[in-house]
Amino acid sequence: MPIADRVGVIETDALVIGAGPVGLFQVFQLGLLGIPAHVVDALPVPGGQCIELYADKPIYDIPAVQVCTGRELVARLLGQIEPFAATFHLRQTVVALAQRRDGRFDVETSSGQCFVSRTVFIAAGVGAFQPRSLKVEGYERHLGSQIFHDGPDAALLAGQRVLVLGDDDAAVNTALDLANADAAHRPANVTLLHRRKLLTAETATLSRFQDMCNAGALHFEVGQVLGLEEASGTDPRLAAVQLIGEDGQARRIAVDVMLVRLGLSPKLGPIAHWGLAMARRQLMVDTAFFETSTPGIHAVGDVVSYPGKKKLIVSGFHEATLAAYAAAARLRPDEPVLLQYTTTSPRLQQRLGVSARVG
Ligand SMILES: Cc1cc2nc3c(=O)[nH]c(=O)nc-3n(C[C@H](O)[C@H](O)[C@H](O)COP(=O)(O)OP(=O)(O)OC[C@H]3O[C@@H](n4cnc5c(N)ncnc54)[C@H](O)[C@@H]3O)c2cc1C
Repeated sequence: MPIADRVGVIETDALVIGAGPVGLFQVFQLGLLGIPAHVVDALPVPGGQCIELYADKPIYDIPAVQVCTGRELVARLLGQIEPFAATFHLRQTVVALAQRRDGRFDVETSSGQCFVSRTVFIAAGVGAFQPRSLKVEGYERHLGSQIFHDGPDAALLAGQRVLVLGDDDAAVNTALDLANADAAHRPANVTLLHRRKLLTAETATLSRFQDMCNAGALHFEVGQVLGLEEASGTDPRLAAVQLIGEDGQARRIAVDVMLVRLGLSPKLGPIAHWGLAMARRQLMVDTAFFETSTPGIHAVGDVVSYPGKKKLIVSGFHEATLAAYAAAARLRPDEPVLLQYTTTSPRLQQRLGVSARVG
């Protein structure tokens, strides 16, 4: 069935794929030009690499911001786009993008949400962030029932033997939270498993973890997962994890639930199949309009390639600005797109919701 005939399809002037720093600034530049946007991201929260890879680390090269963390930068970008009330569609990956006969674009996400958009902005960075999984036989079979990347509800873990995989703050805090749960929600036992003794979580988190291990409330195992064991031929439930320890000895840990917290890895995935010109897995764009080989589909930020490209946030901000102007010309062909300053333009100030303050 054509997308436009489906129930729940959203028609829009602009769809931004990716809510990283550049996708967020794209929303701002579009908003200034009076173009509201919908934004899709695979992650549960906006922020892209800034949130996923260095939320609490400092950034020093954002113009006029001496220093801020990844998280602070994202909060500022979100604050800046507030007047434009963009609609976010999170936890879903854009899986299909195709041009219709009328020149608009059909876009579909992994959740089945469909859009028909007049312009598209690919701000997909290094790709959609997906949870890292284990490459062992049977993993997919138990995913969602006994193996979880996200969640599950704490109530489901009460009285269970829980194995947490990972070494960073997310993994260690998951183990700590479970061991500290109230009696009604507490698992029977909680073990953190990592392939090396060294964990990368923050010092304060590790110190709490050590205390809990010393008190016998948590267990720590060092080893590499070799396979999964099911209860029996007739009972296919996950029953144990087989591993090889640092000492080279094979061992098994009985489990009811495995929480995999191995971090996220970006996958360019479907973008490579949308028929857009690419070079070394990046989208080729012209540098006047930041448009791909398909007019109406713009691309900005880390996902693009052009002579002299630098994968920096500030470069993405410039790219988003030019892409927005180009899209405005496409969306309103009869209106000249004039350069206006936020300092002096009553129209821009009205869009920003600051007219009264300026007076
Ligand atoms: C450790 C580290 C430190 C850094 N420090 C600096 C610094 O100090 N200064 C600086 O300028 N730069 C820095 N960078 C680089 C900077 O983070 C990137 O240039 C910037 O994040 C690019 O922004 P983006 O919006 O293009 O992409 P990203 O931040 O990668 O965001 C892309 C978003 O698109 C989503 N996405 C991708 N494909 C899809 C899809 N098909 N469907 C739905 N969603 C999708 C992803 O989930 C992601 O959220 C640093 C990078 C790292 C790793």
